[in-house]
Amino acid sequence: MKFYSTQQKNQLFSFAEAVLKGLAEDGGLFMPAELPSFSPVFFENLNPDSFSEVAFTIASRLLRNDVPEEVLEPIITEAFDFDVPLVTIEPDVAVLELFHGPTLAFKDFGARFMARITAFLVRNRNQPLTILVATSGDTGSAVGNAFFKVPGIQVFILYPGGKVSSLQEKQLTTIGHNITALEIDGSFDDCQRLVKTAFLDHDLTKKLCLTSANSINIARLLPQAFYYCYAYAGLSERQRPVIISVPSGNFGNLTAGLMAKKMGLPVARFVAATNINDVVLKYLQTGKYEPAPMKKTLSNAMDVGNPSNFARIVELYEGNIDKIRADIWGAPFTDEQTKWAMKQVFENTGYLLDPHGAVGYLGLKKFLNHTAQPAAGIFLETAHPAKFVDVVETIINQPIAIPARLKAVLAGKKQAVQLSNRYGALKAYLMSLK
Ligand SMILES: *Cc1c(COP(=O)(O)O)cnc(C)c1O
Repeated sequence: MKFYSTQQKNQLFSFAEAVLKGLAEDGGLFMPAELPSFSPVFFENLNPDSFSEVAFTIASRLLRNDVPEEVLEPIITEAFDFDVPLVTIEPDVAVLELFHGPTLAFKDFGARFMARITAFLVRNRNQPLTILVATSGDTGSAVGNAFFKVPGIQVFILYPGGKVSSLQEKQLTTIGHNITALEIDGSFDDCQRLVKTAFLDHDLTKKLCLTSANSINIARLLPQAFYYCYAYAGLSERQRPVIISVPSGNFGNLTAGLMAKKMGLPVARFVAATNINDVVLKYLQTGKYEPAPMKKTLSNAMDVGNPSNFARIVELYEGNIDKIRADIWGAPFTDEQTKWAMKQVFENTGYLLDPHGAVGYLGLKKFLNHTAQPAAGIFLETAHPAKFVDVVETIINQPIAIPARLKAVLAGKKQAVQLSNRYGALKAYLMSLK
């Protein structure tokens, strides 16, 4: 597979270059130069009982010149060693549960695939790879868990001390082995600044082979296309045409769905469901893209004022907004509506949503009510409700069960290196590593 940068289309990059660079040097995002195309029958015949089989079928086509099948197969079975259930909660409304990975959020799909792919791509280097990642909460634990015990790779997670939830802090600081948490006395912006400064520091890059694991990496995006295909295979013929609603923040998840559609997946329409951070929806309405300061909401992983994958969506449709509108319908929802959906769905069906999935549910229902054509819908549930236990218990007014995996994390002992927010402190620490 070859890639180009959204800033400059003439130069092609290999899969290895795109993954190890993350972001193109011109600041653009890597895009596949071409995608394979499959027939509707191909998708109907995918095995609805094995996510890893579906993932391998598609990945082996995409990466046939980049990763040998005998390497790819164990990468996929190890990365996706958890369930991906499609659960019907109302007539014609099904939820695709993407939260059964180790950190209970969908970011496990991208992070776990990327970790194993990266290990393969750097296998012949004699120097270990050092990954620096800044996190405001969830990304750090998904990346840390994904790279846990991956040979030849060490990970440093920079997080703002006192500014992540206690559960998130436990998830970040109890991994151990090749994963080190750095508790920065500062803000998330400080953490990001420290990471960026480190990448530009020649003393450091001479000593360490540095890279990042940020969410715009193509190796985090591609595996997200697999579960759209898998969900489609799980529907019966009666449940078509299909609408898929995606709770969106940085729009990586939706971009992966659009790529699946470009490969032929017969999705009639995608719903971009957001909280009040709705700059992309305003673009769909007005044709003007105007980044805005992010506003804090209950669905905090979607609090994004300038979504990093917007450029990829525009690129997929060659800037043609009418084509974008034909594939994406959008709706924003307030925290009040989100809480109402969580309460009402729980009372009527017994199904417990997290705030992000609730936004996806609202988007789907709004579209199905608005369209005249009968259609079946799927919405993506991106996090386990227990990750938001305080909010969820208040809304449904009763205690909820906490998964064993989360309990184990809570019982772990925090281990973090405390650093000030001065770059000198981070540099001295990294330079002193053996
Ligand atoms: C990251 C995240 C999202 C948003 O996904 P994007 O790909 O950034 O649009 C939604 N829900 C949860 C729980 C997340 O962690």
